[in-house]
Amino acid sequence: MIQGSCLCGSVRWQLEGTPEGATACNCTACRRYGALWAYDHENEGIRVSGETRAFVRGNGSLGFHFCPACGCLAYWRSLQPGEAGRRRIAVNLRMAEPEAVTRIPIDRFDGLVAFEDLPRDGRCVADYGF
Ligand SMILES: [Zn+2]
Repeated sequence: MIQGSCLCGSVRWQLEGTPEGATACNCTACRRYGALWAYDHENEGIRVSGETRAFVRGNGSLGFHFCPACGCLAYWRSLQPGEAGRRRIAVNLRMAEPEAVTRIPIDRFDGLVAFEDLPRDGRCVADYGF
């Protein structure tokens, strides 16, 4: 299990197991946030706690949840549940302690132009400033 928390500690998440990859996306949002994502469903592989504020872009389908006190971006979550009521959620691995995440391989996603996965280039979370 990996745990993350914002800088002030009021927003927290738990991720079961270790993800196969950490997604680095270059879309207009992720580029600014600098987040590294690990995905699952809420209250399945990922549990979150603490009061957040959410930013929803335009007519977007998800909210970026950040701590109203310290400003850290902790996770994004789908606005609506999907099939069988499961709700997609992704945590920002930058909220974790380094030793828990540094060896996870980076999965690059081109969210700006092609909207598709890019091949792995051998880098891991440790190479992203941890
Ligand atoms: Zn905080």
